[in-house]
Amino acid sequence: MRAARIVELNQSLEIQQLETPKPKGSQVLVKIESSGVCHSDVHVWEGYYEGIGGQPLKTTDRGVKYPLTPGHEIAGIVDGLGEQAEGFSKNEKVLVYPWIGEGLCPACRIGEENLCDKPRSLGIYTDGGYAQYVLVPSYKYLVKIGDDMDMDTSAPLSCAGLTSYGAVKNANLKPDENVVIVGTGGLGLWPYSLPKRLLGPG
Ligand SMILES: [Zn+2]
Ligand SMILES: [Zn+2]
Repeated sequence: MRAARIVELNQSLEIQQLETPKPKGSQVLVKIESSGVCHSDVHVWEGYYEGIGGQPLKTTDRGVKYPLTPGHEIAGIVDGLGEQAEGFSKNEKVLVYPWIGEGLCPACRIGEENLCDKPRSLGIYTDGGYAQYVLVPSYKYLVKIGDDMDMDTSAPLSCAGLTSYGAVKNANLKPDENVVIVGTGGLGLWPYSLPKRLLGPG
C-alpha cells in the first residue's frame, strides 16, 4: 500500500510503499476513503506543541516516533477482519475512533482511553490515515456510517466533531436555550453541521 509519511520534520511528506497489514485477532483492516487534515497533524509534522506560556513541547519527548503516517480523522470501508473481530462485515462503511489507549491504566479501565498514560492513538503514535489502508487494533474502535452520510463529512467527526460535541455537551443546554459560539472556524462551525440525532432534542 502507499502511505504519505513524515520522514523528516518540516519537510514534504514522502510517499512510501509499505506492506499492507493483515488483521489478526480483534483487529480490522480499513480501506481508507477519506482522511481529514487536523491542526494536530501540523504539530506532529513540526515536531512540537506549544505548552503553557508558549514553551515548545517536543513530540519525541512525548513518545512520537518517526517515520510516521499522520492522519487521525479516518473514514473508510471494512476490508478484512481478524478471526475474533465481530459486529462488522466486509465492505461496511465505518468511521475510525483514533484515541486508543493501551487498555491497562486507570483511565483506560473506566473507558476513557483518550486520557491514557501510554496512548497509541492512530496517526500520532502509530500509523494513521494518510494511506490506502489503516490497521485498527480492535473492532470496538469502529462506528458504522449510515447510508445517509458521506465519507468526507463523516471523517472529521472523530476529532473536530468530537471536540465540538464535547463543548456542546458540557454546556448542558436545555431545549430552546440559546448559545453564542465565539470563533466559527473548523471547530466552531461543527455544531451547525452535526447531525440532529447526535445532538439530541433541542
Ligand atoms: Zn485532530
Ligand atoms: Zn491506558
